[in-house]
Amino acid sequence: MRIYEKDSVVFLVMIWPSNFHVHWRQIIHLMLTVPLTAKQFHYAMGMLNLKVPLIHPLDANDYGRLAMIEGRKINPNFMSYVALYLTDNTTFEDIDIAVSLDHVLAAKLYPFGATTNSDRGVTNLKKMWPVFARMEEKGFPICLHGEVTDPKIALYDRERVFVDTVLVEIHKVFPRLRIILEHVSTKEGAQFVMDTPNNVGGTVAPQYMLCNCNDVYLWPTRNCFPMINSPSDQEAVIYFAKNCEQAFAGTDSAPWGDDRKFCDGGKGGCLTEPYAVPLYAEAFYRADAVDDRFEQFMSVRGPKFYGLEVPEDTMTLVRKSIEIKHSIQIDSGNMYATPFMAGEVLRWSIDSSI
Ligand SMILES: [Zn+2]
Repeated sequence: MRIYEKDSVVFLVMIWPSNFHVHWRQIIHLMLTVPLTAKQFHYAMGMLNLKVPLIHPLDANDYGRLAMIEGRKINPNFMSYVALYLTDNTTFEDIDIAVSLDHVLAAKLYPFGATTNSDRGVTNLKKMWPVFARMEEKGFPICLHGEVTDPKIALYDRERVFVDTVLVEIHKVFPRLRIILEHVSTKEGAQFVMDTPNNVGGTVAPQYMLCNCNDVYLWPTRNCFPMINSPSDQEAVIYFAKNCEQAFAGTDSAPWGDDRKFCDGGKGGCLTEPYAVPLYAEAFYRADAVDDRFEQFMSVRGPKFYGLEVPEDTMTLVRKSIEIKHSIQIDSGNMYATPFMAGEVLRWSIDSSI
């Protein structure tokens, strides 16, 4: 990474970033949701909890390919992957097929009922042991939505309990399984990844670095699963993103229209993608870490974890403030969404846009 000043303006040149967790939603939305990603990221991994989740490897691969086609219209280097949605009926043969496909890079475990469209998710983990064993054998990674769904557990404790019970057990039974704890939001989640060998990684979404629960109350655009947690959890997540070799970027951006967000029973998920790189830059700026740690987190550790080549092309950021728009069109119809932190000012923006 290189930082230089020209005509009193500060520029930052970094390896192109990648985003290993994003939601593009239904196929009809791809033409508007994928470009937001492709503009800023080299590799991206889309999640498949669509209205009708894509649970067959070939369907998953097709979705990944369609996303690539959309993305390459504006970024010829863009490469999209997906994580196969695991259900109670996923077999180890499905894993064998998935491993052979170009766009399926991992599988994703949604505990039943944990988040959006998780009603096809796994109900009995033990039944998945043969599938996990195959994944371990093939070196095929599993992405975990790390929350328990016991109604007796408060939302704020769902990730901690998942880590202390489910995750510890999976890692104990399958010590070589490549695991990604998605959207780390607590000190327990961060600590678990930091304490385990490098076959375990964790993604961090910008909202968990930029906010804590005090900034969320009364802000529907900041509701997401897992919930943005306490100030000390936020501190732990920032430390994790800055310092842990196994931590990398995954925005978990979710393009919900305002009609689905601003209502009782509104959807969880923050729309971070339109400003993803500037949001992360802001988070690292506040953490006094716009240096090699920022580049490692955004651009190097993720591709390395997934065994992909670290991109050679570079992106330039400029120390010029931008204000986040209040509304973004996310549908070719008339659907608009309010981005995360709408109206706030970010201190870095992208200079060399494609
Ligand atoms: Zn997600």
